[in-house]
Amino acid sequence: MSDNLQIENLTLRHQLESLLQEARQNEDKLRRFDVLERRIIGAGSFVELIQLLLSDYRQVFGIEHVSLTLLDQEYEIPRLLDEAGLGQEIPGLCLMPDDEWLKFCFSGDYKTRLTRFDPVSHGRLFLDGDEMPASVALLPLMRQNCLIGSLNLGSADINRYTEGAGTEFLDRLAAVAAVCVESTLSRERLKRAGVTDALTGVHNRRYFDHRCSAETSQARRQRQPLACMFLDIDRFKRINDTYGHQVGDLVLQGIATTIKAQLRACDTLARYGGEEFVALLPQTAQTHALEIAERIRAAIEAQVLTTPHGERVPVTISIGLSMAVLDSVCEHKDAATAMVAAADHALYEAKHGGRNRVVSATALPFGCSKPSMIQNVWMQARQWVGGILHKLATLAHLQRA
Ligand code: GH3
Ligand code: MG
Ligand code: MG
Repeated sequence: MSDNLQIENLTLRHQLESLLQEARQNEDKLRRFDVLERRIIGAGSFVELIQLLLSDYRQVFGIEHVSLTLLDQEYEIPRLLDEAGLGQEIPGLCLMPDDEWLKFCFSGDYKTRLTRFDPVSHGRLFLDGDEMPASVALLPLMRQNCLIGSLNLGSADINRYTEGAGTEFLDRLAAVAAVCVESTLSRERLKRAGVTDALTGVHNRRYFDHRCSAETSQARRQRQPLACMFLDIDRFKRINDTYGHQVGDLVLQGIATTIKAQLRACDTLARYGGEEFVALLPQTAQTHALEIAERIRAAIEAQVLTTPHGERVPVTISIGLSMAVLDSVCEHKDAATAMVAAADHALYEAKHGGRNRVVSATALPFGCSKPSMIQNVWMQARQWVGGILHKLATLAHLQRA
């Protein structure tokens, strides 16, 4: 009897100890979860949030695989990542244009799923690395009853995520992650809207002004060349008058896309106003910048733009090119202003030279380094003649209007 009591006592003590251990583990898990949750809520940007979910979560909870699937019908997220300088892909982040696949993974009901890894259903959600998890937790990310993605956790331990186990922690994580994905994305959208031209999708002038100052200062610090291009569609008014403003808008969009396609990700393209664009090309020497400008001009001339009725709209562009003068005599703001003025002036010459051409400003005219006396006289004469021609053209335009 006493032996039985002793055995029962021992068993109960073991059970108590294992319960206490489980409680301590849960408490520890809760504490780590609480710390991570605060960081997730405090994420300052979408990129920081992704970093926290994909990398920090894995480390804090010691699991082998974490991936995030987001529905991105508009192809918006790669653009955001690209602008943040992260390239268009992040390991562990999987973008899908619609919810077909996730519907299949969740079997239609969007509840946290704990299950063994199945390569057919889950392979697409864990694309990184050679090794696949043994068990997985799929957390649906829901906002206003709509699925926006899923957070996918994978463990090498087959017993880590088993059907029927409690999902309170994970449900809470999914809810927090969904709110944070949505709010950081809409913050990024707002930020983008403030610096983006609504019609063409390239940057706006406000962004250009800010970038121009930053790029000039960086070019001076690093002693690297910086090229600036002013690009203006030729006889655009005629296009509007002939085909209508809607076709004019389509032409503006098509031209913006063509210019962008010829530039690198690190270059800046902005709509300066009306049918004028401006581009900044860091670390680009004048000869190379001229080649790029010529490539843009030729691409636009060759581009086949058509009206919705199938009429072909011939379009050409004139480009003025200048280089930042990077001596230390003048402030970088003055150097930026001088570079923009020189590109604008070169564009003006391209127009007067017959349009559909690239004109490069000479290296010195509007810079801050001290030109020789002859250069000085030449510069002033050019500015003077240019100014008069410009005024005459404006007057003629006003009279016509
Ligand atoms: P040039 O070769 O000398 O540049 O001639 P241009 O006709 O291109 O230049 P001008 O400045 O005479 O006309 C520009 C036109 O661009 C006038 C304006 O109505 C049109 N425009 C400006 N912004 C927009 C826009 O957002 N959409 C459309 N469709 N037209 C625009
Ligand atoms: Mg024009
Ligand atoms: Mg113009």
